[in-house]
Amino acid sequence: MTDHSDLHDKMDALIAIARRCFDRGLQTNAGGNLSVRLDARDAIVIKPSGVGFAECTRENLQVVGLDGTIATTGGGLKPSKDLDFHLDLYRIRDDINAIVHCHSPWATGYASAGVEIPCLTVQTIEKIGRMPLIPLSPNGGPQTEVEISPVFRDPSIRAAVLANHGTIGVGPTLMAAQYLAEIIEETAQIAYVRDTLIAARGRSAAELPRFGTAAGARAAAG
Ligand SMILES: [Zn+2]
Repeated sequence: MTDHSDLHDKMDALIAIARRCFDRGLQTNAGGNLSVRLDARDAIVIKPSGVGFAECTRENLQVVGLDGTIATTGGGLKPSKDLDFHLDLYRIRDDINAIVHCHSPWATGYASAGVEIPCLTVQTIEKIGRMPLIPLSPNGGPQTEVEISPVFRDPSIRAAVLANHGTIGVGPTLMAAQYLAEIIEETAQIAYVRDTLIAARGRSAAELPRFGTAAGARAAAG
């Protein structure tokens, strides 16, 4: 039985995070998608296809069972076309309660160049560790659960970048997944500035000092 209080709380949280993502310029137009798992664990709320992050409402959000059964087709719309990879990630990882997938421009630029975004700040190492670059599907189309799920079967993976497409952040809450979407984009901008400056000075990344987290430095100091 659907807990309507939980459903409305999750819908409102999704609407707020989608608005934040839009306001920060991480997703324009009607692309990208985001979803959140209901407390009952067997269903999710997901953005509909063809609706922008700034236009999500309780009336147009979609509710879908983890088995793919569509419970609510709000506004006569359909769930996001990336529904299948969202469902699969919830099925394979109990710790994932929310997914933010967006086409943020700096990160997608790296992904379109076939370059993995380096985790080059202490925060990125701490919060993400590594964000693998997932190639296009073999027929050249966008990534599906066939390409995405194997990467996320590693429980340490919290973020990934999709070649020629965008980013994925997952987390225990929508805010946690959104923070990752923001860190991925911020890191791509920092990487671009770093790489541009060191190239202009005729240096290479290998010459830069090694660094890590405060915890790592404490451990190294014994
Ligand atoms: Zn997409």
